[in-house]
Amino acid sequence: SVSSKPDYQESASHEADEGQSGVVIEATGINKSFSELQVLKDVSISVKKGEAVSIIGPSGSGKTTLIRTLNGLAVPDTGIIKLDGENIFFSHPDQPRSRRLPRQNEIKKIGMVFQQFNLFPHKNVLQNITLGPRYHRRGSKAQLETEAMGFLDKVGMLEHAYKYPHQLSGGQQQRVAIARALAMHPKVMLFDEPTSALDPELVGEVLKTIEVLAREGMTLIIVTHEMQFARRISDKIYFMDEGSVVHSGSPQDMFDNCDEPRVRQFLKEFN
Ligand code: ADP
Repeated sequence: SVSSKPDYQESASHEADEGQSGVVIEATGINKSFSELQVLKDVSISVKKGEAVSIIGPSGSGKTTLIRTLNGLAVPDTGIIKLDGENIFFSHPDQPRSRRLPRQNEIKKIGMVFQQFNLFPHKNVLQNITLGPRYHRRGSKAQLETEAMGFLDKVGMLEHAYKYPHQLSGGQQQRVAIARALAMHPKVMLFDEPTSALDPELVGEVLKTIEVLAREGMTLIIVTHEMQFARRISDKIYFMDEGSVVHSGSPQDMFDNCDEPRVRQFLKEFN
């Protein structure tokens, strides 16, 4: 039933925003250069509500830059980015004046979890989580703290609510970072290699947390080198190489049926 859905899922009143297609976030024809180096070449991706989408590929292929364009941390040179069918970025090479930068109220519908957890070092866990919601006046202090405790419970960090980041392991800090992103009630969560800064024994607890979100129907996009994880949780996987999407499809399509030599070569190195 609807009432049993986790509270970060959108209420029915928002369903209409997405229109018939169910597409929550869509990037079309994204190009991006850093001086001489073109790091994104006509990249397009599309993610539907409730989908878990992974982006894989060799280092330097543009995966991180791509997801940073989705929430305004990197600005494309050209392309279109839509959230709920509405342009949040638009720039056409022949119409430079059409360019529009994303606004804060649009960006905050997109949650982001970084490689380096980026918690505020002088705030405790609970404060780290309530800071954003309090700034955006999402409720009273007491309401937001109660809600934050719910998110901490979800990521298995309830008992650490009053600790400071330096008192936590990397895996624990990353789970707090996930709770912090959830507390803004995002429409989509972006994960940029969330386990690559962790000691191997801490990777599992973070992947498990993300997997729970995926299973509950959170819309998410994850850049990852964890191939078994990507295969297990993804509805769709994009493979990037040298700034381009060279293949996309279901996990089975990517891992078992894809003849693209760059994909085969890359996956072979993980076996
Ligand atoms: P990936 O996530 O697939 O490893 P990135 O998106 O991080 O790839 O990087 C793609 C390319 O863009 C790399 O060659 C990288 O060095 C370059 N790059 C990324 N960010 C910047 C930046 N801010 N300035 C200059 N070059 C950058």
